[in-house]
Amino acid sequence: MSLSAVSNQNFPWDLSVQYIKKVGPARAILFGKLNIQTLEDLLYFLPFRYEDRTEIKKIGSLVQGEEQTVYGEIISISLIQTARKNMQIVEALIRDDTGVLLAKWFNQPYLQKTFKKGDDIMVSGKVRTGFYSRSHLEMESPQYERIDADEPQLHMGRIVPVYHETKGLTSRQIRSIIWMLLNQYGSAIPEILPASLIEKYQFLPLSKAICELHFPEKGASLPLLNTGKTLMHQRLAFDELFLLEIGLGFRKNQVETKEKGIAFNTASSLVTRFLGHLPFQLTSAQTRVFSEITKDMAAEFPMHRLIQGDVGSGKTIVAMMAILIAIENGFQAALMVPTEILAEQHTLNLAPYFEALGLSLLLLASDMKKKEKEIALTRIAAGEVDLVIGTHALIQETVAFKKLGLVVVDEQHKFGVLQRARLSDKGCNPREGHRPDILVMTATPIPRTLALTVYGDLNLSVIDRLPPGRTPIQTRLFYGKGRAQAYQLLEEELRRGRQGYLVCPLIEKSEALDLKAAQTIAASLTTGFFSHRRIGLLHGRLKREEKEAVMRAFREGQIDILVTTTVIEVGIDLPNATVMMIEHAERFGLAQLHQLRGRVGRGAERSYCFLIAEFAQSQEARARLQVMQQSTDGFKIAEEDLKIRGPGEFFGTKQSGLPELKVANLLRDAMLLESARTEAFCWVTADPRLDQPKSVSLRAALERKWKGKIEWLAVG
Ligand code: ADP
Ligand code: MG
Repeated sequence: MSLSAVSNQNFPWDLSVQYIKKVGPARAILFGKLNIQTLEDLLYFLPFRYEDRTEIKKIGSLVQGEEQTVYGEIISISLIQTARKNMQIVEALIRDDTGVLLAKWFNQPYLQKTFKKGDDIMVSGKVRTGFYSRSHLEMESPQYERIDADEPQLHMGRIVPVYHETKGLTSRQIRSIIWMLLNQYGSAIPEILPASLIEKYQFLPLSKAICELHFPEKGASLPLLNTGKTLMHQRLAFDELFLLEIGLGFRKNQVETKEKGIAFNTASSLVTRFLGHLPFQLTSAQTRVFSEITKDMAAEFPMHRLIQGDVGSGKTIVAMMAILIAIENGFQAALMVPTEILAEQHTLNLAPYFEALGLSLLLLASDMKKKEKEIALTRIAAGEVDLVIGTHALIQETVAFKKLGLVVVDEQHKFGVLQRARLSDKGCNPREGHRPDILVMTATPIPRTLALTVYGDLNLSVIDRLPPGRTPIQTRLFYGKGRAQAYQLLEEELRRGRQGYLVCPLIEKSEALDLKAAQTIAASLTTGFFSHRRIGLLHGRLKREEKEAVMRAFREGQIDILVTTTVIEVGIDLPNATVMMIEHAERFGLAQLHQLRGRVGRGAERSYCFLIAEFAQSQEARARLQVMQQSTDGFKIAEEDLKIRGPGEFFGTKQSGLPELKVANLLRDAMLLESARTEAFCWVTADPRLDQPKSVSLRAALERKWKGKIEWLAVG
């Protein structure tokens, strides 16, 4: 296709790469390995690194000790086998019109075949005087590239893009192909962003941004290029984020305008009575968040709200009040949590209030007898139960509610977007066609805009302060032998009448081994250092009654040290427990460590967290342990975690339903994300169905980019 035939509307984004010059069917298969199928993929296949080859030195003017680049002809190439160290060295003599240079590569014998005499080659590296003779210079293991004599301007004398390679397709070949491609199509790449935005933010035109990302202009900054911070990167990152946010805004809009929810009456006497039973006052943060919730509950569209609050900030109480509103309006509520223990814990905590208020609550446990379960399901279906608490068992097919009005999901990070959607479907009553309200609680505090993006369609409320009277937890790190000292410190606390947790090594994927480790440790404590103390053991394999008995004994002070697997990670709440000791702390993730530590420091007493770690640690593990010692602020910890692991890992892209971002980086580009979100939501408000003429190219881009990549982003 010639340039003139290409107009804005029919730019061949979808053209298969095999029809692109210099590609063809064989190379198309190789490109497939790099996930490149279409012309668009290739245009957006950005260099992962840039090399500054603006300055090509003459061999005669090379300076010792500096990184330099030369271009010349290979006049001899040979493979040398050293007898002494059994090394293979490939040596190439390179000549230009001012002198000769020796390039050496160690243990890469194939290079002898890669080059041949007469090839034009470019090498860059540190220059030093020769090993054999001071009169000639050499480079050890230089970067190299064979140069096609007919297109040297591509590979030298400029900042050169370096691409990821695959077997049979080198960075240099890709560079040539993209060079051709840009010559043919580059100036015709149409805009996808609205002109008003390009103007407002002074963005580069898309065409210019793409062309210069592949072949930066003279004078471009190498450091900015290599860290993804140029204006070109920003333009593409904005596009990507804007399209993502348009998709999210579009979906959110649909939920709010199309899906019918329940307009609850939020003036609730149950809430008033419940507050009367509480031994404390709500914090101002809790009150604010609750009023945000009631506003949603009163509205006609279904609530989709995320409560974000650090461990111990008092989310549960707020959720409880929302549950009471739903019940008072004649609906049922469901509380879904990630673990059985947490389900039991919530049941135990909430039962007294439910009793006092004359309401019914039911724990749907996985180990229920068949008969018992049938009865439970019948009661739920008949509407005899006001609140059902359970794990993901709640979203199984067999559970049917009579009239589900509110779903509360605790600890969001353990559930995915799709699971949430399924639970909401449960409540969708086909006759009346309304969806239940959804309230999600998470203790993973992440920066606001990020949360909005990752949790996409949710509104956000933040409980940003802890209840009064908490004392900060002191965290100390001990290595192997230091355990004795940690035990001593624990003993001192026990003497003051306090209690402690000892969390056992996490051995992933093997519950049986976790259990064994916990049993071994419990046994060794009982016979060893803590033989005079009462030791309890809690793990996932215990029967429900056994678990309840252990928890009760701990609560009542009949157990001094509770040895557990990570089942207590979330939700357990006992102010007299002031020590959290974690074995093999290096094996836990930051979020998990923070959660575990949050089990103590719940009363006015000074509390401690002792991390016991092995010496052999990865750099990442060391970084995690350091963060734990330095901060107790969940927000800060989440931010560090994000830095250590990177956004992809941190959010678990699949789980969050967020598509992989190619150019944008959620951390680096936080500011861009902020504006992208604001602009996108404005745009969707003005054109809710994206069917006005001004949205045509945007919508096409949206469909191209995200189609099939996020299931729920149905552009309908
Ligand atoms: P989260 O679920 O956010 O980790 P919880 O809701 O379990 O926190 O609350 C932690 C502890 O703080 C509980 O013991 C709860 O009773 C107590 N609590 C909650 N709100 C307040 C408050 N306003 N004042 C004092 N204590 C509170
Ligand atoms: Mg909680």
